[in-house]
Amino acid sequence: MAAPGYSPASGPPSGYSPASGPPSGSAAAAQSTPASAPVRIVGGPGGGCIAGAVQLPASGPGYQTIRFSRSWFWGHPDTIAALQALAARAAAAGLPTLYMNDISRTRGGPMAGVHASHMLGLDADVWLDLLPKPPLSPAELDGVEVRSLVAADGRGVDPAAWQAGHATLIRLAAGLPGLDRILVNPAIKAQLCRTTTGDRAWLRQVRPWYGHSAHMHLHFRCPPGQPECWDQSPTPAGDGCDASLDWWFAQLDQPPRPPGPPPRPPVLPAACTGILAGQPPG
Ligand SMILES: [Zn+2]
Repeated sequence: MAAPGYSPASGPPSGYSPASGPPSGSAAAAQSTPASAPVRIVGGPGGGCIAGAVQLPASGPGYQTIRFSRSWFWGHPDTIAALQALAARAAAAGLPTLYMNDISRTRGGPMAGVHASHMLGLDADVWLDLLPKPPLSPAELDGVEVRSLVAADGRGVDPAAWQAGHATLIRLAAGLPGLDRILVNPAIKAQLCRTTTGDRAWLRQVRPWYGHSAHMHLHFRCPPGQPECWDQSPTPAGDGCDASLDWWFAQLDQPPRPPGPPPRPPVLPAACTGILAGQPPG
């Protein structure tokens, strides 16, 4: 049954509003340089860019980047600091080394592949992988695959994969400074709804979304001093363990829909033309 006010064709009732898909282009992470400082974010959920981005080092205390040759690790300095803080807090909580993946390109903007966001240096993908991390060669790090935490039918987490530490990791991420929301698979959100005791306020920031069965997508709010950056609407009040979550599972009972038209390229703010100049196509 659809959540009140939402028909199956109306799309998800809450959560993230991604931009239109990125234009086609090479998936290779061709190198370029960030647009010079000072840091300046232009745009919002519909698309944008960033000048003065800084790079997450390839590894650091508590984390390791993966898929480096096809991924981008540039972001606003606050985003980078928050990711490093997450790794440190996870390590302090006894969790294994984290795998970090895409943040943004050197100057932000559209990114090839599945990403419809990640344009502002305010988004990051952190893998929900709590297995021990043996040392890997660069080639092996490029090919890392992480198992899904969601059962094949999509109606719950895979009990053979899910650990209480996954909830700990997501809760630690929800407490990061500037954190706006975390996208996870609806089955993961439901698991958190069922198992969280005590403080449940952080669940408000954990939103269900398509995919995201092996990683969480962190989105940060526009940092202070960025008047050309605009935020998404705030997450709805409450813990989100309600009809808006039920909606996702009701979709599993619906017949598959025919594919819609291809997404249109994002419309970038005019100021991004100069910031993105010289960056290879995404
Ligand atoms: Zn993402």
